[in-house]
Amino acid sequence: MMITQEQILETLNQIQDPDLHQGLVSLGFIKNLKIEGGVVSFDINLTTPACPVKDVMKAEAERRVSELPGVEEVNVNMTAEVRKSPYPSGKSPIPGIRNIVAIGSGKGGVGKSAVTTNIACGFVKRGARVGILDADIYGPSVPIMMGVNKEKVRINKDKKILPAESHGVKIMSMGFLAEGDQPLIWRGPMAHKALQQCLFDVAWGELDYLFVDLPPGTGDVHLTLSESIALAGAVIVSTPQDVGLMISRKTLRMFQKTQVRILGLLENMSYHICSKCQSREEIFGSGTVKNSAKELDLPYLGEIPLDVRIRKASDNGIPLVLQEPKTELHKAYEDIIGHLAQEVSIASYNEPTPYRETWK
Ligand code: ADP
Repeated sequence: MMITQEQILETLNQIQDPDLHQGLVSLGFIKNLKIEGGVVSFDINLTTPACPVKDVMKAEAERRVSELPGVEEVNVNMTAEVRKSPYPSGKSPIPGIRNIVAIGSGKGGVGKSAVTTNIACGFVKRGARVGILDADIYGPSVPIMMGVNKEKVRINKDKKILPAESHGVKIMSMGFLAEGDQPLIWRGPMAHKALQQCLFDVAWGELDYLFVDLPPGTGDVHLTLSESIALAGAVIVSTPQDVGLMISRKTLRMFQKTQVRILGLLENMSYHICSKCQSREEIFGSGTVKNSAKELDLPYLGEIPLDVRIRKASDNGIPLVLQEPKTELHKAYEDIIGHLAQEVSIASYNEPTPYRETWK
């Protein structure tokens, strides 16, 4: 019996993307469909290479198509093309960058930079093109965590700053702009200008995701970023004991007031795994961030335990997700990365939130 394109497309459209709630054909995910006798081949082009249901989707497509009468062989090729997040008028996109994700926290020392570097490296491992902008002017620790702290700013022939590169991630730090060991005391217009320079005067090239490691709290850098730059959204990192999350909630409110989508909350230093006996201790009482996310009706991305291996890996400039052998810590990051990738994809299908002219 002859198989037709229509039959195959109809079958594939019965498979729904779990986040976007539409069939794979309606979403335009099926590409290069070929029917050669009983052999059917096609690509499923997802919106992120970090899609957590990639393997399930592939197996499901293979199964359904192979059950059609006349089909002898099915070849499914999984590809990904990251979509560009939409941007509201009044906010600028950065040419070549598809999604800018801000990573914030209510206070310092909650592990925001460790989270940013591990997430960035995890996305690279899955095949995405990734950059990090370290905008934490009070404690620029990304360069150390990525092993590029000796970097000097270099300029290319187009007078753009060349980002450092490590573990496949392009890295720019506002700290690179400071002279020697001078503390960064950028305020107001200066912070605004330095951030603009790091975003627009850097030769980022084509990136699927640019993660911006923000200073803790809500300051000038946040305002510039969230008011003038088209962000895919923001992630908020919190520890369980964050004073009932009051501090993080302030950060949250700032993003909401500037119409920045909250991609999710994440709990770091959630519980402790003893390095000797591997037992789990809930030092700060884990779960508060998850509860908060539920209460606020925001996505919860997952939790990372307090574990000395994370600190050591960061100190050595090779984030934990890149180290072998794989452990349960890798799994914790992988879950978060998959979840975040989904949230950014969902954001890319939504209409931009309207921009409010002023927020004081
Ligand atoms: P922030 O960016 O919020 O100021 P950092 O990412 O610089 O915080 O983290 C502060 C310190 O805690 C660093 O030494 C970092 O390696 C360490 N750290 C972060 N997260 C964890 C974790 N889950 N387990 C152990 N150490 C961690």
